[in-house]
Amino acid sequence: MKLPLVFLVSSLLHLVRSRAPLNSNITKLPSNEAPYMNIFNNGTRGYVGDKSRQTPFPQWLADFTGLSEWPGLNPPYIPLDFIDFNKIPNIPRYGQSECNSRRKQLLNNKDVCSFDCDACVEKDDIFTCPKLSQTFDDGPSFATESLLNHIKNKSTFFNLGINIINFPSIYQKMMDRGHLIGTHTWSHPYLPNLSNEDIIAEIEWSIWAMNATGHHLPRYFRPPYGGIDNRVRSITRQFGLQAVLWDHDTFDWRLVGSNNSRHTERDIYKSVINWIRKKTGLILEHDGAFKTVEIAKNIYDLIGPDQLNVAECVGGTPYLKTFPS
Ligand SMILES: [Zn+2]
Repeated sequence: MKLPLVFLVSSLLHLVRSRAPLNSNITKLPSNEAPYMNIFNNGTRGYVGDKSRQTPFPQWLADFTGLSEWPGLNPPYIPLDFIDFNKIPNIPRYGQSECNSRRKQLLNNKDVCSFDCDACVEKDDIFTCPKLSQTFDDGPSFATESLLNHIKNKSTFFNLGINIINFPSIYQKMMDRGHLIGTHTWSHPYLPNLSNEDIIAEIEWSIWAMNATGHHLPRYFRPPYGGIDNRVRSITRQFGLQAVLWDHDTFDWRLVGSNNSRHTERDIYKSVINWIRKKTGLILEHDGAFKTVEIAKNIYDLIGPDQLNVAECVGGTPYLKTFPS
C-alpha cells in the first residue's frame, strides 16, 4: 500500500504547525460530570484471533519497522522523525489510582489538565455536541455487528488497534455503513502512567492498524479511561489527533461480568431520559461486550437516529487522510 508514512509525516507537520498553542485556555467541567474511572476489561481486549483472518501485515509497515507481524498487547516503540520530544512537558507519570495523592503533591493541576482526575479539558478537546449523540469505545468486537445492524444513524466508534486487525471485516462494515472511526490506542493502557515512547507506540500502532485495514488516518482520539493530561495531549497533537471526551457517562461497563456495582440498566435509561430533555451532549458507551451493546441498542431506541457523529458535532473533517484502497 501506498507509502502512507510520507503522507503521514508531511500532512501531520502541517497540522501541528497550525494547531493552537499548548497552554490554551483551560475549561473546568461541572464537577457532577466528572468521569468515574475504573478498569474496563470486557474480555475482548487483547483478543487475538485466527491469524489468517487478521489484517495482513503490510509491506510498507514491514519495511518501516523491520517486523513481520502485528504486535501483542505491548507494541514496540518505533521512532518517528516528526515527533519533537522538546514539545512534551515534563509531567511525572502517575497511575489511575493516584489522582488525589502523589500527582497533586507534585504538580499544579492547571498545568496538568487531567480529564479523568480533574475534569479538566483544553481548548482543542471535544467533550460535547450540539445534538445528543452516542459514541462507542473498545471495538470492534464479537458484539459490534449486532449494534451496526440496529442503528440507522452515522455514529462514532473509537476502536482499539489490536481489535481492528483481529476483526477487519467488522471494521469494513463500520466503514461501509458510514460511521466515523477514531483511535482508542492500540491496547487500552492508562496513558498517563506510560513513558513518552510507550505512549507514542500505543498511538502509532493504532494508526497503522487503521491505515492497513481501512486505508485512512484518524483525526479523532479517545484516551482509555479518559486518561489524558498535557503530556499525553502534547504527543497525540503531534500525530494530528484531536482528543474526544464526553459529558454524559452511562457507566454501562459496570454491568459487565462479575461487577458487584449497584448500578442498574434502569439507572442508565433514567439518565438518558434526562439527557434527552437537555438535547445536547456526547454519551460514552462501549461496543466491546454483548451486554453493553444491548444497552446501546435500547439507548438508540430512546434517542432515535437524529444524532451527529463527532466530526459533525464540531464541523470537522472525518479523517486526517484517506487513501484509495
Ligand atoms: Zn475504552
